[in-house]
Amino acid sequence: KEELNIIQGALELRTKTVENVMTPLSNCFMIHIDTVLDFNTMSEIMESGYTRIPVYDAELSNIVDILYVKDLAFVDPDDCTTLKTVTKFYNHPVHFVFHDTKLDAMLEEFKKGDNNGTGDDGILSISDNSNRKKVDPNKNK
Ligand code: ADP
Repeated sequence: KEELNIIQGALELRTKTVENVMTPLSNCFMIHIDTVLDFNTMSEIMESGYTRIPVYDAELSNIVDILYVKDLAFVDPDDCTTLKTVTKFYNHPVHFVFHDTKLDAMLEEFKKGDNNGTGDDGILSISDNSNRKKVDPNKNK
């Protein structure tokens, strides 16, 4: 039975795509790049419970950065720092993949690690078929 599960899982990696398994952007908790990190915003981010939050500019499909919640450790809500200041400082790489990438290919990419060696990047996927350009994936694993 267990062997069957393993084989079935391996076959699924060949047929399923990134889009099949990732959280759609419309269901993601995201934050606008011009957000001011005041007490309310910081509370909202903490309450979301997520450790990585896609940062968008102008429209939700335009992901420009990833906020790691741990980056907020030195932010004082009274300073009203903008999110842009924080993301510019940490400058985490955002890795974009095509929505129709098969999971076995994705796994290979994960195994290779990321090209600049930080190894802790966010994965985002473009799920809009009409927009098939290589820009990023959301960090998501
Ligand atoms: P985290 O480490 O940020 O808690 P995980 O990567 O372990 O998140 O994912 C846990 C679940 O939460 C997954 O189903 C993932 O798709 C979802 N998730 C993670 N980040 C977000 C986000 N910013 N918005 C919506 N769902 C998210």
